[in-house]
Amino acid sequence: MSTAVPNENLITERQLSILVKGRQRKNQLKCDAESIAGCVSQRACVYCGARVVLNPVTDAIHLVHGPIGCASYTWDIRGSLSSGSELYRNSFSTDLKENDVIFGGEKKLARAIDELVEKYPAELVFVYSTCVVGVIGDDLEAVCRAASQKHGIKIIPVQSSGFIGNKSAGYRAACDALLRLIEPAGEPRPVKRLNPVPSVNYLGDFNLAGEAWIIGDYLKQIGVEVNVVFTGDSNYRDLKKAPQATLNIMQCAGSMAYLARRMEELYGIPSMQVSFLGLDDTAASLRNIASFLNDPEMKRRVEELIRRETAAVKPQIEHYRSKLLGKKAAVYVGGGFKAISLIKQFREIGIDVVMVGTQTGREEEYQTLHDISDDGTVILDDANPSELERFMTEKGAHLLVGGVKERPLAYKLGVAFIDHNHDRKHPLSGYVGAVNFAREVYSTVCSPVWKYTREIGGGLFAAGKNALPER
Ligand code: SF4
Repeated sequence: MSTAVPNENLITERQLSILVKGRQRKNQLKCDAESIAGCVSQRACVYCGARVVLNPVTDAIHLVHGPIGCASYTWDIRGSLSSGSELYRNSFSTDLKENDVIFGGEKKLARAIDELVEKYPAELVFVYSTCVVGVIGDDLEAVCRAASQKHGIKIIPVQSSGFIGNKSAGYRAACDALLRLIEPAGEPRPVKRLNPVPSVNYLGDFNLAGEAWIIGDYLKQIGVEVNVVFTGDSNYRDLKKAPQATLNIMQCAGSMAYLARRMEELYGIPSMQVSFLGLDDTAASLRNIASFLNDPEMKRRVEELIRRETAAVKPQIEHYRSKLLGKKAAVYVGGGFKAISLIKQFREIGIDVVMVGTQTGREEEYQTLHDISDDGTVILDDANPSELERFMTEKGAHLLVGGVKERPLAYKLGVAFIDHNHDRKHPLSGYVGAVNFAREVYSTVCSPVWKYTREIGGGLFAAGKNALPER
């Protein structure tokens, strides 16, 4: 591959992970690889990847085996909602100390499980491994097996200690834990579909601000039942019913592609990628589901729903589009499929994406990102803050879309920010989400506050080369 971008100030090994569309002979980007030593990667840790996926299981005890700091990732910084149990809002920790590191933490873990099971009635416990557990070598498997037998409930170890990879390894550890929950390991078996109404497992929606409920309502309107959501607003009993679904539809492929593949192998459930971000992708996903299920009446209902919902939101989208036309956005999110949807969604409101990157995007997703991006767009994998700052400044982005770690970066640059991660409290999926998204982009990009930061921050941005983008 030819040199990706002008390489001044770039760490040499990072150059293969960054390209500018239209400037390279080859379009391939190095991705799905370990972070480069010496870079402050924006990626979260293995445990965090696992916790992101499993935490929305509402009636589980979530026990973090590790130092107290790892357990700070709690419900309170997430927007996952529950229609039932609130047990998942607690974050329990074994609070490992120096003595436990020296003499082992297994007894402390067993005691913690006993105490929690006694205090909180639950059928399911997830025990998360953390970095220090990987170092001291506690046998989580054995402790959980013994506790499971003792209490007669499902106690599942989540093998998410650091050192085994990056956030993607955590996704996989979570999927392995879910597979153990659905069905004890054994021979693959064909499952008789019990329900004559077509039903789907909805993978990779964490019910942030009730998003899974919004999509579930659309599916109900077209005659499809949601069997269970992985994992937004899910519970132990519903997750166990997963093999009964006709189809797996998958929103967040980064976290759920492995689970979908294994469920196809084990239970013969086919899977389909969907996206309910933006008007076009929402409509296309509903049409694809109806096409897959090959039901003429369902196809008719889909068209009716699309017509009705689009007509209801289009005037508002057009209003915001007229205010935002010509603005530029930078996107840095967890997975590739979300980044693809965001480029399309920004086009719907008149905004060009000038920089796009992900923490865990896969090769085929980067190919699509490359194909749909405009010439000159910077595309990068597993970025560090200095790269994000450089390219946002060079490309004149007015807005950054990202997660909790990117927010301060945007504000320090005097650039608007949209949270598109697990912390937000308002839905961005479906038709209602498309309006929320447009409104939020408008209110932050067009906020008068940036005029003042430009004045106050002049010195700071002058030091950062290009000063602030024109507004
Ligand atoms: S100590 Fe390890 S497991 Fe805990 S938060 Fe830090 S990186 Fe993640």
